[in-house]
Amino acid sequence: MVGAGLTGLVAAYRLANAGWQVTVFERYPEAGGLVATFDAGGERLECFYHHLFTTDTDYVALAQELGLGGEIEWLPSRMGIYSGRRLWDFGTPVSLLKFAPLPWVDKFRFGLSTLLLNRTADFTKFEQVTAREWILKHAGRRVYDTVWGPLLHQKFAEKADDVAMVWLWGKLFLRGRSRSVTGLGERLGYMRGSFGRLVDALAQKLRESGARFELATPVKRITPFDGGLEVHTRNGPARFSKVLFTAAPSELLRAAGEHLPQDYRTRVGSLPATAALCVVLEMSRSFSPYYWLNIADQEFPFGGLIEHTNYIPRERYGGRYLLYISKYLFQEHGLWSAHNDEVWATYRPYLQRINPSFDDSWVLARHHFKAAYAQPVIPRGYRSTIPPFETPVPGLYHACMAQIYPEDRGQNYAIRTGNRAAATLLEGAPSD
Ligand SMILES: Cc1cc2nc3c(=O)[nH]c(=O)nc-3n(C[C@H](O)[C@H](O)[C@H](O)COP(=O)(O)OP(=O)(O)OC[C@H]3O[C@@H](n4cnc5c(N)ncnc54)[C@H](O)[C@@H]3O)c2cc1C
Repeated sequence: MVGAGLTGLVAAYRLANAGWQVTVFERYPEAGGLVATFDAGGERLECFYHHLFTTDTDYVALAQELGLGGEIEWLPSRMGIYSGRRLWDFGTPVSLLKFAPLPWVDKFRFGLSTLLLNRTADFTKFEQVTAREWILKHAGRRVYDTVWGPLLHQKFAEKADDVAMVWLWGKLFLRGRSRSVTGLGERLGYMRGSFGRLVDALAQKLRESGARFELATPVKRITPFDGGLEVHTRNGPARFSKVLFTAAPSELLRAAGEHLPQDYRTRVGSLPATAALCVVLEMSRSFSPYYWLNIADQEFPFGGLIEHTNYIPRERYGGRYLLYISKYLFQEHGLWSAHNDEVWATYRPYLQRINPSFDDSWVLARHHFKAAYAQPVIPRGYRSTIPPFETPVPGLYHACMAQIYPEDRGQNYAIRTGNRAAATLLEGAPSD
């Protein structure tokens, strides 16, 4: 197994349960991948903000299987939007009525088009049209320019116009099902003590079943030999009959590209994804009343503010207020390679624009995290380009976020992918 994120851990767990001898190679010293945690005020906290929707049934099922089902809390959350230089409640029918940046006719079109998406279970209707085209047609330019356009740009940067409507459908359709029947509020799920606990439970079960972990051991190369595959790391080569690679497509090409045919390399190489930059502030004061605050202003250097302690009580973090500053970008963007202090110097004035009383004295600690492969870009017609788990190299399989469709990536779907990939290896049958 290459990669100890959720996809790799779940697949390894299933294979080990089936009696396979499993070795897990992970680049970093800890398992968890994008769900890695750090210490904030004496409690574990995800480096990247995380919550569950009530539709995340694969996650809940696995948590129950591992004895953690009772540890998921479903708590109310409050969503806002920064638009027209001020904060607004967002995400409920009442908040839409009060949202002044949209004139009444556009509020109506926004509401109607969102309702249409929530009511349409057949995602194939949205596969061949971009989100931009669909929104312009069904909700109009003002809705696009005021709400969806900025949000798509925050997530997909310069690829925003390429994103298929099916991606937005996945977000809204599933999110709609996570809301209460009155549509007035939403409960989101969180694992008491952090999502790292499920990662730990999986790792523990794997160790108990005899699986080996090679942490802080990036896989450099994978080469076929008669009867299997050789995995090359700093510890030298090791031989396996099968390898499941769960890192980014670009990593697979780097490690095994020379053994993969050109058409496969082109296919896998054309699966773009944005990277993520997350700054986490431990603060002495609260920044805003919202858990989730979308920034619908493209002048801003970040796209979202997630105040974790407006969702999970701050008493658990030594009384500290925790704020994530989120940005998705391509690696060519200057902020990706900028020094942490430079990133902070860029962000600070914009935080003050939202909350003029904010200043450095509020910040008790600042943490910076980066993920190179964070959010696959889903263009039109994506379904036909999704690679199967089997690669053209016998015994080499690839399972990652790029195969999640039509839903958006998330822990729930990493678990589903891990389960499916393990089943494919076990059956030796083609993946769906
Ligand atoms: C900013 C952000 C916010 C998110 N918010 C949520 C949320 O609210 N709710 C939710 O459910 N999900 C959320 N997610 C998504 C969720 O974290 C992922 O879908 C899931 O964790 C992906 O798991 P994975 O195993 O597929 O990938 P990863 O976690 O990326 O695991 C891949 C692993 O492979 C390792 N690796 C890479 N290259 C090599 C190599 N050469 N050799 C060895 N190891 C290697 C990596 O270090 C990593 O550990 C969020 C993600 C981001 C980035």
